This record gives sequence, structure tokens and C-alpha cells, in this order.
Amino acid sequence: MSAEEYDVVVVGGGGAGLAAAVSAAERGASVLLFEAEKELGGSTQLSAGMFTAAGTSVQKGLGIEDTPEKFFQHYMDLNQWQLKPGLVRAFCEEAGPALEWLIGLGAEIPAKVSHNAHSPGLTRAGVEDVWRAHVPKDQGYGLVQVLDRARRQAGVEVVLNTRVDRLLVDGGRVTGVVADGIKVPAKAVIVTTGGFAQDPALVTRYYPAADAAGDDLFVVAAAGSRGDHLAFGSQVDAAVAGDGWGLLLPTAYFQRLHHWQSGFPPVSRIMVNSRGRRFMDEDASYAVSGGIIDLQDGPVWTVFDEQARLSLPAGYAHWDADYVLAEAESGRTVRADSVEELAGKLGVPAGALRATVDRWNAHLPTGEDPDFLRHETLAAKGRTEPPEPLGKPPFYAARTLPAELVCTHAGLEIDGSAAVLDARGERVPGLFAAGEAGAGVLGPRYVGGGNAVANAITMGRVAGRTATHSMPRSTP
Ligand SMILES: Cc1cc2nc3c(=O)[nH]c(=O)nc-3n(C[C@H](O)[C@H](O)[C@H](O)COP(=O)(O)OP(=O)(O)OC[C@H]3O[C@@H](n4cnc5c(N)ncnc54)[C@H](O)[C@@H]3O)c2cc1C
Repeated sequence: MSAEEYDVVVVGGGGAGLAAAVSAAERGASVLLFEAEKELGGSTQLSAGMFTAAGTSVQKGLGIEDTPEKFFQHYMDLNQWQLKPGLVRAFCEEAGPALEWLIGLGAEIPAKVSHNAHSPGLTRAGVEDVWRAHVPKDQGYGLVQVLDRARRQAGVEVVLNTRVDRLLVDGGRVTGVVADGIKVPAKAVIVTTGGFAQDPALVTRYYPAADAAGDDLFVVAAAGSRGDHLAFGSQVDAAVAGDGWGLLLPTAYFQRLHHWQSGFPPVSRIMVNSRGRRFMDEDASYAVSGGIIDLQDGPVWTVFDEQARLSLPAGYAHWDADYVLAEAESGRTVRADSVEELAGKLGVPAGALRATVDRWNAHLPTGEDPDFLRHETLAAKGRTEPPEPLGKPPFYAARTLPAELVCTHAGLEIDGSAAVLDARGERVPGLFAAGEAGAGVLGPRYVGGGNAVANAITMGRVAGRTATHSMPRSTP
């Protein structure tokens, strides 16, 4: 059974898919969008919606000078030039215009400083020299609402609850999709199915670093992140890029939810390694913190005292005073009456841990952190009060590791116009991809909060544009 032909079929209705659909429809294409779940949004809807971009009106409104060139340099340097510069250049140049497009469609991103992922404005995304993370009103949900409204206005049809099974391929050209056993012909297909975080076998194959978290691993990506793009790609011998890369956020072993629900560790805390030494700014961006933890020999611990435990605000599932107490009672969180006893229980040198606590107490709680410059990070988060010293027993240590799986980066290799490339590096006619499904932009180092949403919406918009350019002309 066959349906009518569309100019463009989009597979997956998260940020990349909605952006692709709207952008193709804006250019006059007839567009059909399939979404496997009962509602649109995917991981984009669950996200903070943080969007990293350079040279935007929001930055200008705050007097910040920035350019796509500076963004490109930072992006490539942070990723140690392991990405294709042409693709990353295209992304960095397109991210700003994509953000302005979103604002034009109704996204609210005021030109004001934001100290977190919740307050609309501009915040520090990661380790960049100028602030680039744009936080929209109502976060990722807000972005999806804006794009869905534009989608409706542009006349893009949506089919929910329908997981596309496979591509239609004719002589090497992608000519449509098959969904629910029905063939849907299209001049171009854009694959925007998100990542594969919800498929354990694919995680083991394409992001084995996540398996290192063992039983502590938990997935916060949307339910639809099943890696269907990889199966589609194998139909046309598409190349895979981003193998081995993804984003794991560092968490205490007892967290099982994203920090908005799990809560936040106390500000008054240090992280120590098996030598009993601090080794990083405890508030360092997750752009770099997971990698720093991975470099330590042996386990890493978040150490805090009774006063810090009691200071935890109520209302969170895991970083909560009673929950932490219960973990300590069970023995899973280590507890001791002195720093030396804690060191003994952790198996770290007692003298080193004592010296580490004393050094920290003498610095940040009374001024600055000369070793790791944590005062700068706290200031960027809007915190003006110094943390309390660690001194009130009992002392606690919670094992901390990168274990929260947010997104995956292995997908169909794309070029700067979001066309999918085959194993020879040639374009697969009729096939485009974006977001986590379209790989090559997201690299070994996550470029701060906003990297993935910016990639999804920017490259989705590009895909919608190129797909309509490269459509075979209908015969009159
Ligand atoms: C809790 C959380 C917070 C985050 N915060 C941020 C942030 O603030 N900033 C940032 O940059 N990144 C953030 N991320 C990551 C970011 O949200 C995602 O990487 C990005 O939104 C992915 O967009 P996408 O369009 O590629 O995929 P998704 O938004 O996941 O959309 C893919 C869609 O495709 C559908 N689909 C899958 N297979 C099929 C099929 N066969 N047929 C039809 N439909 C299918 C899925 O159901 C899904 O709806 C966060 C992620 C999470 C989980």
C-alpha cells in the first residue's frame, strides 16, 4: 500500500525534526513528519533548551562582542581538532541565524544575564571565554511549543504514535519511508530520530564509556532514543561518525534522575581522588568535568560534613538531608566522625585528606580558591556568599562518577549542508540527517550547555533548507 508523495518526509519530531519540517515548509515544500511517541518533543522537550551560539542579538544586547569565527576556534580547540572543520565551521556560522530564527518565531530569550539553566537570558555554557548559552523561556518545552506552532502555521502534517520502520531506496536514491507497513514516497527524507541512549546494545557498541558506570548508569534521554537512524543508515551504506562519543554527566552514585529532580550537592563540599587530593573545581562545567574524573586513578569522592548535609534544601529526590542520612545508615555513603577516620574508610592517605580539607577551609570559605579558581565559577552562577568550611562531624563521602547518560553522538555522517554521506564520503541522494541522528558536530568534548540543542535546531533547519534545494524537479 502506498500513500501520496510528499516533497519531504521528516522522521522524528524533536528539535531537529521540527526545525527541519518548518524550514522545508517555509520554502514551499509539502512536508509530512512522523513521530514514534504519542507526543512531539523528544529529548529536546526534556532539556533546558540551552542553545549555544555566537554573534547573536542577545549577546549584543549585553554588550558582548562575539563572532562565529571565535566560536569555531573554541569549538575546534576544545575538541582537539578531531572534528571536520568544514562541518563545524558551517554549524558555528549557522547557529546564530538559527537562534534569531527561533526568536522570530516567538522564542523568548531576553538580553539579560542568567546564572543558571532555568532563568531566561544568557549564561555561561561551559569553559568558553565569552558567554554563549542562550536560555529560552520555558526551557526546551518552550522551544518545542514555538516550533510546533510554526509547524502548524506552515501546514506541516504530523503523524504521532508511528515509528518509521525503514527507508525506501531505489537505485541508491532514498525515495521515501515505510511506516506501519505503508510506503510513503518522498523526494527527500530527513532523519531526525535523536540518539540511541535507550538501547543498551547500541550504547555498548557505540558509546562503551557509558558501560563503565556499571549499575550506576542511568538514562535521562527521551524514550524514543532507540537509534533507528543507525539501522536506516545501514540500508544505504551510510558512514557513521561520532563513534565512541556522547555525554555522561558526573553524579553521586545514588542519583537516578536529572539534577532538576535529583537535586544538587551542597556548595560546601570538595571532591577528592584516591590520593586524598582535590583535583578539579567541584563546579566545573560538564563540558570538561567528566573527562577530568575519568583521568583519576581509582574512585572519586564528594566529601562534605554534617552542616552541609543539613543545609540541603527539601524537595529533591536524592540530594536531600534525610535521603543522604539513609544512604549513610545503609553504609553506601561513607560516614565517619573525623577526617582521618573517613580517610581510613575510603582507603586514601589520611595525612593527605587532612591537608586537603585544611587547605580548602583556609581558602575558599574565607576568600578565593587559588588552586582551582572555583570562586570564579561560583560567581558565574550568581553565588556571592562563600561556602562554609568543612568541620562539623560526622563527615560524609559519596562516590561520584560520570553516570547520567544525556545524549549520544554516533550517527549518520553529514556534511555542512546536512546531507548524509556514504562510506566513500559521497552524498546519499535524497537523504539528510540532523540532531543526534546526524553526526559530526557533537564531538568528544561537549561544548558546554547548549551544544546539543543548538546542533539539533541549527542543523535541522539547514537540512530542511538543503532538502528542498536538492529535490528532483517534478516533470510538468
Ligand atoms: C534532561 C535533558 C536535558 C538536556 N539539556 C540540554 C540543554 O539544555 N542544552 C543542550 O544543548 N542539550 C541538552 N540536552 C540534550 C539535547 O536535548 C538533545 O541532544 C537534543 O535535543 C536532541 O534533539 P534531536 O532532535 O536530535 O532528538 P530528540 O529531541 O530526542 O527527537 C528525536 C525524536 O525522534 C523520535 N523518533 C525516534 N525514532 C523514530 C522513528 N523510527 N520514527 C519516528 N520517530 C522517531 C523520538 O521519539 C523523538 O521524539 C538535554 C537532554 C536531556 C535528556
